[in-house]
Amino acid sequence: MDFRNWIAGEWRGADEAIADINPSNTGDIVGEAALGTAEDVNDAVAAAKAAAPGWANSTPQQRFDVLDFIGTEILARKAELGRLLSREEGKTLAEGIGEAARAGQIFKFFAGEALRQTGDRLASVRPGVEIEVTRSPVGIVGLITPWNFPIAIPAWKTAPALACGNAVILKPSEIVPASAHALAEIIARSGLPEGVFNMVIGTGPDVGAALVAHDDVKAISFTGSVATGRLIAAECGRSLKKLQLEMGGKNPFVVLDDADLDVAVGAALNGAFFSTGQRCTASSRLIVTEGIHDRFVAALAEKASALVVGDALDEATQMGPVINEAQLNKDLDYIDIAAREGGAVSGGQRLNRQTPGHYLSPALVTETTNHMRINREEVFGPVASVIRVRDYEEALSVANDTEFGLSAGIATTSLKHASHFRAHAQAGMVMVNLPTAGVDYHVPFGGTKASSFGSREQGRYAAEFYTVVKTAYTQP
Ligand code: NAD
Repeated sequence: MDFRNWIAGEWRGADEAIADINPSNTGDIVGEAALGTAEDVNDAVAAAKAAAPGWANSTPQQRFDVLDFIGTEILARKAELGRLLSREEGKTLAEGIGEAARAGQIFKFFAGEALRQTGDRLASVRPGVEIEVTRSPVGIVGLITPWNFPIAIPAWKTAPALACGNAVILKPSEIVPASAHALAEIIARSGLPEGVFNMVIGTGPDVGAALVAHDDVKAISFTGSVATGRLIAAECGRSLKKLQLEMGGKNPFVVLDDADLDVAVGAALNGAFFSTGQRCTASSRLIVTEGIHDRFVAALAEKASALVVGDALDEATQMGPVINEAQLNKDLDYIDIAAREGGAVSGGQRLNRQTPGHYLSPALVTETTNHMRINREEVFGPVASVIRVRDYEEALSVANDTEFGLSAGIATTSLKHASHFRAHAQAGMVMVNLPTAGVDYHVPFGGTKASSFGSREQGRYAAEFYTVVKTAYTQP
């Protein structure tokens, strides 16, 4: 087996394997991954339990050294890791290398955070009493990640978890095990004591569910679909685990009459179709005011149809394939539903390339209304729809009329509208004259409504999830 599980400081195979298939060329098997079991989860948790007290008491310097080692190696190998990522996930080579670099930067950031301890020493309301507020690790944390960011999401959960002194069990998506395995292999050589970090590859209902149900796991950080998030939340409610969920989106991108057309079209093109639209922050609803609507649609349709769709590893490719056949069929189904509900579709056709892959041309659906299914449900593909509105007020109301609330964008040159939108868009992240997707790594990431649950990921805010606050009173 090419990709094995890392449990208690050892690489472990499995009775069953799962093939990691290149979506640009289904004849190319990236590798065979060990399909872990609930028993592997039990062993990983037992190892984490034995190692947790030691790591919880490690010095900031020890934590810095480990995280800095990991970040340095990822950055040094970003071209190779990015290529592997693009080969198994299908995003373009530039996107794959960018994501690998991001993972390295995240480890570097949290290496620094391990040194930048925070805490408070306060006066009591009672004379002579001293108060100290400090943060302790949660203990053993389970990290469950999706397929669309095969190295960045495991990194943005693992790095803060370790920086805060926790022991970790990572359950990556079984669809993209190569990148997670490469990350685990670097972590395995980082000097981290054995058992502090464990990785079990496997299916959600098997390995994921066993991790969530385990009583010794004190916190679960999950990124994936709303349906899975709800299942996990129910189980964590039973066992009273700390929980952080990052889920889907139906992100609005508003274009006002006063927008710079090039800025608006560039941001919409990037937000809707880059990474094959397979981003939780993708701009799937383009809400456009009447005065600019036709010019915007014409320019965007032209640019979208000119995107070079092809093999992710081909330097000329601007949009890679869809992850797999099931997702491609889902995309085509939604395009069909949108057409039947009255939308006008351009693009959205299955494409043949030199190698057998899941290729789809970018789909732009115009003449839609916000109550059509294409505008209510997450598609998770290169599919964007346009909703025509009268003015800013209607645009804001349509933007907020969704069960999701991850990212919201606006293209405008009006300070008044930009400021109002920043304040009133119901989303965890707001972008002005920028794509809804594409975020920094040193600031909080997350949403509102059905998009997120629990405290924020990334930046300094990540510590909120990976620590528990302790208030100590002392009468000297
Ligand atoms: P998914 O929910 O199918 O799977 C996510 C992870 O959960 C996988 O590792 C899977 O094996 C595991 N899982 C599945 N069933 C489980 C169960 N019963 N118990 C425990 N774990 C289980 O999602 P996906 O298809 O891998 O990813 C796509 C989704 O992820 C989209 O909805 C997208 O919007 C979302 N996403 C969100 C963010 C964010 O930060 N908000 C980022 C990326 C992706």
